[in-house]
Parts: sequence; structure tokens; C-alpha cells
Amino acid sequence: MQYSDFPSIGRQISKLGFGLMRLPKAKEGEETIDRDEAFRLIDLAVKSGVNYFDTAYVYHGGDSEAFAKEALSRYPRESYCLATKLPGWVIKEKNATPEQLFNEQLEKCGVDYFDFYLLHSVNRDIWKVFDSANAYEYLKEQKKAGKIKHLGFSFHGDLEFFIELLDKYEWDFAQLQINYYDWEADNAKSYYKALEDRNIPCIIMEPVRGGSLHTLNDEAKAVFAELGDASAASYAMRFNLELHGVLTILSGMSTYEQVEDNLKTFAECKPLSDKEKDAIEKANILFRKNFAVPCTDCKYCVETCPAGVNIPACFKAYNEYNKTREKVDFNKEYDLIPEEMRAHNCIECGACSEKCPQKINIPKMLKKPAGLSKGE
Ligand code: SF4
Ligand code: SF4
Repeated sequence: MQYSDFPSIGRQISKLGFGLMRLPKAKEGEETIDRDEAFRLIDLAVKSGVNYFDTAYVYHGGDSEAFAKEALSRYPRESYCLATKLPGWVIKEKNATPEQLFNEQLEKCGVDYFDFYLLHSVNRDIWKVFDSANAYEYLKEQKKAGKIKHLGFSFHGDLEFFIELLDKYEWDFAQLQINYYDWEADNAKSYYKALEDRNIPCIIMEPVRGGSLHTLNDEAKAVFAELGDASAASYAMRFNLELHGVLTILSGMSTYEQVEDNLKTFAECKPLSDKEKDAIEKANILFRKNFAVPCTDCKYCVETCPAGVNIPACFKAYNEYNKTREKVDFNKEYDLIPEEMRAHNCIECGACSEKCPQKINIPKMLKKPAGLSKGE
């Protein structure tokens, strides 16, 4: 395992961070975690040197923090770093205070302090909620009291506002969505540079874009296959491993094989050859051609929907269709969604789009799978 070593952080952090957002599930379609299998994944990661674990109040419908306690309390507290996040939309919806949620999180995670604590999924609107709840000031106090070691935020807003936040407040780190697809397409490179210019450590999230840079499409996959038998995900990880100033790269691993594959990539840490860089560029172009909906399966929208639509599952089916333009590939995924959770149930209230970090116009895009299922 490779480690980052920032003087401002004061300890070595494994370059591979374990995101506790896409753990194996006890039952398909539900968010409860399959404890036994998930423990196996965590134990393999710990044994191989991973020491950074990232959860959040909302992951796995609230089960992720409870799982973090069960999984990590089997290890000495000082042997791992635990990160969690304060969700502005929960403050708003529950009319809760940052203090209430923070104390609930300490209790749920079974810890006295968080190594890393983030304001979650910040953009201009969410910041207004944090601002009126004095969240930043409250968290600074917790840092002074030793309950937070490092304070930062994850960001999904516009660049101008990102820079404004960096310059107005004191941050120990920031978390950004960086991968070879978003580097140009979503201007991730400018956000990264803003951190680099200020010497603020960067944590990378979505390095394989919710798995889509692993599954890709046949044409893009063929580009990597020509280079050998390394996984498509390993190229996406290595693209990010080339970046300086990165504290850790979070991977939301769901299977034992994914953990093994990542461990191999992060143990070798091989710099990309020119040929491999060209292949990434080529695969990116081929993949973008028919990547219809940039959904990362984060599920932030799911609980909002009054109609109970399984939004990410509908988009997954539609993205599968776009890879081949074969209706059978759409049906394979869409048939798994219960009738009452399919796209046609959307009443276009728009509540979900406010939550979407990828800024997808969800009701508009849902019309695509809804139409396809009716043969339009
Ligand atoms: S716009 Fe449609 S999918 Fe989105 S929350 Fe409203 S009903 Fe659900
Ligand atoms: S539609 Fe947006 S909020 Fe919903 S799962 Fe996809 S990326 Fe996340």
C-alpha cells in the first residue's frame, strides 16, 4: 500500500480509502448491509494497509455509520481514520441543529472523535442551510475540543463558489469528484488546481464514477483489453494516482474481487506509460459517445421521491440500453425494478433534482426509460 504524508495531517494515510457507501447488501433493492460479507471486505483491506474509512449520515439509508462502528471497533481506535459528513438537507428537512446530528453521529459510530469531518455535498443552496445553522462555527468549536481532527467539505457546486469558500474559511482538506471522465467534461481539473494552488490536501471521490468507468461499453473496454488483462477500473485509479496533493482516493467497494483489484493497483502504483495515457483518452471518447445519463448511483435522490421511483435503477437500465441500442439490454435491468418503482410513476415534482450532485434534470431524463419501456 502507498501512503500520503502531509505535514498538516500529521499521519500517514493510505492512498486507497474505503468508501462505506456501496457495501454488499443483505437483500437486493434494500439498503441494509450484509454484515458478514462486508466484514470480509473490511478485514482484507485493513490487513493490506488501508487505514481510511469514509461514511456519511445518509449512506445505506443510515446503516453505514452503524456498520462502521461494528466493523471498525474490532480494531484499535488509533489504527484507522474515520471520516463522516454533516448533511445540510437533513438539517433542513428535520429542522435539526448541527449539534444534534453531530452527537448522534458520534454515538452511532461509537467514537469520541472523528479524524475527518466534512460538510456534505456543498453547493450554494446547501451552504445557505449550513450558514443559517452556524454549522461551520459549531464544527470549528468541535475541532478545538478535539472531537474533530480535520475539518473539510465535499463539493458539487460551481467553481467560483468553490474558490470563495476556500478563501473565506479555514479548511484542512476538501473532497472532489475527480476521474478521467470529469477531468475535462465537468472541469474537475480547475477545482483540483484551486486546491493545489492553496496547498490544501485533496480527497478524491468517485474515481470510477460509480463503477461506470469499470463497466464502460464494449468499444471502450476493447481499448484497455488490447493492453493486457488489467481491469478498466485500474486505469481509472492510476489516472488519479498520478495527481499530486492527494490525501486518499475513495473507492466504494462492493465485492471481494473489487477490493483485491484495488489493492493490487495501489500496491504497484505503476505510473502510466504514454501508451496507457493514450488508451485512457481513446476509451474516454468512445465511452462518452453513448453515456446517456451521468448518474453515479449515489442514491441521494431516492428518499426524496414521493412517488417511490427507483431513480438510479431506471437510469442504469437506460445507460445499459445506450451502450448497445439493444432493447434486450434495457429489459435485463428494467425488469428487475418493481412496477411501482419504475420511471412512469414520476409526477414531476422536481424534489429529486435539488439533491442530485451531478445536476441531472431527473424528471426530464426519466422520460427516456419511461418511453423506452412503452416501446417509444
Ligand atoms: S420529479 Fe419524479 S422522480 Fe423526482 S422526486 Fe418528483 S416524482 Fe420522484
Ligand atoms: S440521479 Fe443524481 S442523486 Fe440520484 S443516484 Fe443518480 S447521481 Fe445520485
